Amino acid sequence: MSLYRDTGVVLRTYKLGEADRIIVLLTAERGKVRAVAKGVRKTKSRFGGRLEPLSHLSLLMHEGRNLDVVSQVETIDSPGALLDDLDRLTQGLALVEAVDQVVPDREPAPAVYRMLVGALRTLESRPSPVVVPAFYWKLLAAEGVQPQLDVCVGCSTGEPDVALVAFDMQEGGVLCRSCRRGRPLSGDALRLTRMILGGQLNAALDEPESPATAEVAQLATAALEHHLERRLRSVAMFEQG
Ligand SMILES: [Zn+2]
Repeated sequence: MSLYRDTGVVLRTYKLGEADRIIVLLTAERGKVRAVAKGVRKTKSRFGGRLEPLSHLSLLMHEGRNLDVVSQVETIDSPGALLDDLDRLTQGLALVEAVDQVVPDREPAPAVYRMLVGALRTLESRPSPVVVPAFYWKLLAAEGVQPQLDVCVGCSTGEPDVALVAFDMQEGGVLCRSCRRGRPLSGDALRLTRMILGGQLNAALDEPESPATAEVAQLATAALEHHLERRLRSVAMFEQG
């Protein structure tokens, strides 16, 4: 078996046999990797508690046919502060769960890796209700899904001629009052979503919690779910065909 070094964030773990655990990681160079950590559930494991979800690690691994094997681990960022705060822990887990669902196995995803490390550090240093929705939108953008936020997807009219008052997942964008369908969208939530996707992420992260941040969070979650469902359907159709 060949040996390699990489860095990675633990997305989730599950039990294997009596003492082992499978670790699902998003690595910098190899994308999503599944690896066995042998003996990790024994009290005197040489890995200690380092292989927990949200940990950012430097790893030495043996490459396997299906599962790689964790040989050595060093912590780069421990999720310490997140574990002490249930709200931030929940947000951190939402990030890794989204990555686990979106990123396929063993396809390099260096941009998503950098985004994930950045979002986890942001969550630790300057928590904001915008971290998770911003990450969802950026993850969708990395998948090639860019919502139309400037003009109505029905009639191509933009502000100031019409107010854009709705968002439709199927159409992938905003709608004016006459074309409206999908879900209602407030002006503040539209402005905040434009900031997230238009290169003003830092300003968006400074927004205090408000009805608009809650609305943006719901919209981003719905957009991610829509994307995952559509992909599941297309995979099912592909497998039938
Ligand atoms: Zn319209």
